Amino acid sequence: MLKPVEIHIQAEPLTHLKSELDPNGWRDFQAHADRARALMAGRTFWNISSTSKGGGVAEMLPRMVAYARGAGVDARWLVLTGTPAFFHITKRLLHALHGSSGDGSSLGAVERATYDEVIQDNVEEFLALVKPRDVVLLHDPQTGGLGPALAAAGASVVWRCHVGCDTPNAEVARAWEFLRPDLSAARFIIFSRAAYVPPQYADRALIIQPSIDIFAVKNQPMAPEVARAILATTGLLRGGPDMPAPVFTRADGVTGRVSRCADIIRLGTGPAPDTPLIVQVSRWDPLKDAAGVLSGFALLLRHSPHLRAELVLAGPAVTSVADDPDAATTLEDVLALWRRQSHFVRQRIHLACLPMADHEENAAIVNALQRHAAVVTQKSLQEGFGLTITEAMWKARPVVASAVGGLQDQVVHMKNGLLIRNPEDRTEFAGAVRALLEAPELAALLGRRAHEHVRAHFTATRHLTDFARLVERLEEQG
Ligand code: UDP
Repeated sequence: MLKPVEIHIQAEPLTHLKSELDPNGWRDFQAHADRARALMAGRTFWNISSTSKGGGVAEMLPRMVAYARGAGVDARWLVLTGTPAFFHITKRLLHALHGSSGDGSSLGAVERATYDEVIQDNVEEFLALVKPRDVVLLHDPQTGGLGPALAAAGASVVWRCHVGCDTPNAEVARAWEFLRPDLSAARFIIFSRAAYVPPQYADRALIIQPSIDIFAVKNQPMAPEVARAILATTGLLRGGPDMPAPVFTRADGVTGRVSRCADIIRLGTGPAPDTPLIVQVSRWDPLKDAAGVLSGFALLLRHSPHLRAELVLAGPAVTSVADDPDAATTLEDVLALWRRQSHFVRQRIHLACLPMADHEENAAIVNALQRHAAVVTQKSLQEGFGLTITEAMWKARPVVASAVGGLQDQVVHMKNGLLIRNPEDRTEFAGAVRALLEAPELAALLGRRAHEHVRAHFTATRHLTDFARLVERLEEQG
């Protein structure tokens, strides 16, 4: 039998978030928290996802659960256990919801039976934990199948879909058809943007945008010299004399130290500390288009050979993310493309797998990379929301993002970053990156506005308020 795993999260006092809001905002926020605590008394707010490491859901959940616990709600996080065949199917489903055919495999009765088998294997354990009147928030297609059994046991089931496609096609329809039996049990279905809502679920749809925790290790302030020291320790930058210790503050307040190296493919040495870096940090997923970033950067170098800039494409160690089975193949494809470049280009492109053994150390490395970057890109072909861009914008970095999915809800072209209209267009991408490298004042201005935009729209207080409202809506429905 497959057993779900509970990830134990310590409560984080809500007062940590006070500086995000003005006094009126703080009063309103506390009122929502008080109502949620009263409505959830004696009940549990379960979150169920399919991995505790890697990707946006695993990034957000621990912080949201910690603050909900800090608000006095018994919020918990469970991770279902799958098999390789199950995760192959759910990855295919995720691609389909993005409008892509993925590896082209089928999503028929055989796949449905394999999916159901894993769900059945997990469900018994979930039923032993979930009580009538509990709220269960299921994340993404991997967990949707648990809905009917948990609803039948008396829980209020809500399904959250973190991905979507602005221009639905046959693939999207195939994914919704696959998920149809599971979604009958969901009282609400949460999407990140209105364009993702299929008409058949419009009456149950809620829009809740993701957020970052500005106090998390990933986003905490970091002096530029500490960022350089962290990157030099991991091997991502050349070290220099008199570097400070590569340290960060862990969530529990204890000082952490980055000590692991990244697994890096490059020609020769790392970039010098003063070399402008173009950085994309993403899971190794074809829709993140690391290959397109690589060829766009190669094009940029061809047109501007004297440009002093290098590219870092970073992602998690490929075996570390349980529900991302095609990571190794994607990295292999990027590597093959890198090998085909000229010596001159290869010398300026670094492919890095970041250590994942200690998730706070990983977060500190990502923080350092994003802060040190001259330009952060997210050239996704499809993107549910794109927390990597939120993180970079919070760090006041100038960003270049594709005008797809949730990236468009964050980046306003020429106001707080640059959008490329056609994500496939390497020329447009190269032009946008060059524009930022050649106009540091514009880049700094866009970065400052990006920071303010995140503060106004994508912080934990807004997200937690949306959840308090969800609990109120469930209560109103009875
Ligand atoms: N991430 C990370 N280490 C990595 C690669 C990615 O911590 O090596 C994080 C990244 O900082 C972000 C999340 O994974 O918080 C990715 O979320 P996003 O919404 O951008 O995309 P998703 O992976 O959910 O499709």
